[in-house]
Amino acid sequence: MARDVQMIDQALAEAHLPALLMSLIHITGDASLLSDELKPAYDFFAEGRLGGYSQATQDKLRAMAKAAISDYMAGDGVLPPPPDPATIRRMMDFIAGVEVPERYVPLLMEELSLDGVDQKLPSWDTPQLKSAAAKTKVLIIGAGMSGLLTAIRLQQAGIAFEIIDKNADVGGTWLENTYPGCRVDNPSHLYSLSFEPNHEWPQHFSTQPVLLKYFQDVAERHGLRRHMRLNTTVKEARFDEAAKLWRVTIRRPDGAEEVLTANAVVSAVGQLNQPNLPNIEGRDSFAGVAFHSAQWRGDVDLTGKRVAVIGTGASAFQFVPEIAPKVADMVVFQRTPPWLGPTPNYHDDVTERERWLLQHVPYYEKWYRFWLFWMMTDGLLDAITGDPDYQGPPTAVSQVNAELREMLIGAMALQTEGDPELLAKITPQYPLGGKRSVRDNGVWIAALRRPNVHLITEAITRITPKGVVTADGTEHEVDVIIYGAGFKASDFLRTFEVHGRDGVELHDQWKGDARAYLGMTVPNFPNFFVVYGPNTNIVVNGSIIFFSECSVRYIIEALKLLAETGKSTLEPKQAVHDAFNEKVDAANRGMAWGAPQVNSWYKNATGRVSQNWPFRLIDYWNATLKPNPDDFVIR
Ligand code: NAP
Repeated sequence: MARDVQMIDQALAEAHLPALLMSLIHITGDASLLSDELKPAYDFFAEGRLGGYSQATQDKLRAMAKAAISDYMAGDGVLPPPPDPATIRRMMDFIAGVEVPERYVPLLMEELSLDGVDQKLPSWDTPQLKSAAAKTKVLIIGAGMSGLLTAIRLQQAGIAFEIIDKNADVGGTWLENTYPGCRVDNPSHLYSLSFEPNHEWPQHFSTQPVLLKYFQDVAERHGLRRHMRLNTTVKEARFDEAAKLWRVTIRRPDGAEEVLTANAVVSAVGQLNQPNLPNIEGRDSFAGVAFHSAQWRGDVDLTGKRVAVIGTGASAFQFVPEIAPKVADMVVFQRTPPWLGPTPNYHDDVTERERWLLQHVPYYEKWYRFWLFWMMTDGLLDAITGDPDYQGPPTAVSQVNAELREMLIGAMALQTEGDPELLAKITPQYPLGGKRSVRDNGVWIAALRRPNVHLITEAITRITPKGVVTADGTEHEVDVIIYGAGFKASDFLRTFEVHGRDGVELHDQWKGDARAYLGMTVPNFPNFFVVYGPNTNIVVNGSIIFFSECSVRYIIEALKLLAETGKSTLEPKQAVHDAFNEKVDAANRGMAWGAPQVNSWYKNATGRVSQNWPFRLIDYWNATLKPNPDDFVIR
């Protein structure tokens, strides 16, 4: 306790002050702290920790907090009665710095979870449901974040399940991507399962090993490993209409095939795991070492090597600054520059003091997460939504989009001072929001400015045994080529066949244009569910974990619907599915990423945006609370 009291001063110096203020209301019961004087005012480019307060206000707030927390710690640990709902509502507006629209309040209350109750916890508590759960078995394909989440929810519902994964361990993306510098681009205190908070994140944006450990620990804590078959691939899933069961052929680690049966199948294989090796003439003729960023060759020592990097997306953006100091020479081939979103704390540690606040100050971690959640909710969506009346150049889709563009170019200009040529090369000529921007704390441009790094914007024409040839005829001789060229994202569920009603195969039905109802269900495929399926990727708002939590709740509710009605299968009505997709397509066409001048992995070969959710988080949350029985053919 004495140590804790000593810690208060140091910790308060580093506190997120608006979150601290919310804690103070819980500790003191004094809602008059929601005063004009203490109202935060956030600056787009600032981190928000200081709430835009003057030094005098910061001092006052810290002094109040010191007194209140010291008293609380010296006392019996009993807090005053919790704030009433109207006060909590005012607290939300206060910490958000804007009036939170009423329609967001139920979602935000669920996220805030002040009472610590997991509101997405399935409840299969009647005898009928219990009996149905006991007779149901679900097969989950994929042991990454979404697969583990699905397993936990099924377990909580009392439903038997088995998880199949091709890899030797759990973790999916966070197992496979081991390239130097790999880390999440969502704040860690948000990028975690809502019911599995972690107050020990060592950094604000966790690195791959830390995230892998988090998901491994989650799997352990929930006892999931005994339900897993690792090093096992799914060959095909086939619906047996007579038995109303899925028969799933797997290839075991010993090479033998086995057929498993299940009442339902959940594909949780992700969107970004089939490496894209660009179709460049002569690619296979290269005599040196070549590999994709998602299949990083840890055994290849890059020290002193001449390295070519093809691609400047999120992955290259992370590994180039890491390897630049050790290589002799590096040529980075950029086809399209990424937008850089200023994030000064991107590589920063969460200090011991900050962790102390999260662990010891009542409700601080709740409001801190709430603040992160709100900041990433839907605010930026308006800025990347096209204005049909906008008359400006095609580098923006609206006036506000154009203004934001100028702000970001201004931030890039500061970093490229004295090198206008570099600024011109790295300035995107497509609208902000066309692709997911990357989090910038200066290391990317610093790497590009190193004397041993050369940014090449000439198009690649071919690869030779010696290196990479560009359109100007230059042959860039290298020892190693690293492809940071992304993934075959729109090729959903490509690694196995899925045969639904009447034997129809999913990819044949999709014809290269994957679609699903709410990203999860497909006509003719009864009890077949997809997590992180078509049109459920997000670009500027929220975290994919939030989306997965919504999807998985819906899937469990769909199974519950069957259990309640005593039916066996459901699949979406074709008309419902089609109408939904029409709405999605129309909305996507109006977004920056849907603009005709933008090329990205969000669009499939037909040009349709098959990856992204064009609406708001609140819309997905509302749409996935519970399936509407009228949307389905239920048998
Ligand atoms: P990516 O964003 O798709 O970037 C691929 C890069 O390769 C682009 O610069 C692309 O240029 C280039 N490229 C592709 N084919 C090419 C060709 N034939 N010739 C020249 N250049 C070519 O892939 P990624 O960087 O692996 O990231 C994929 C997604 O994974 C991200 O959008 C993000 O959602 C996720 N991710 C997240 C993180 C994170 O959380 N921090 C890290 C890595 C990945 P064009 O743009 O011109 O196509």
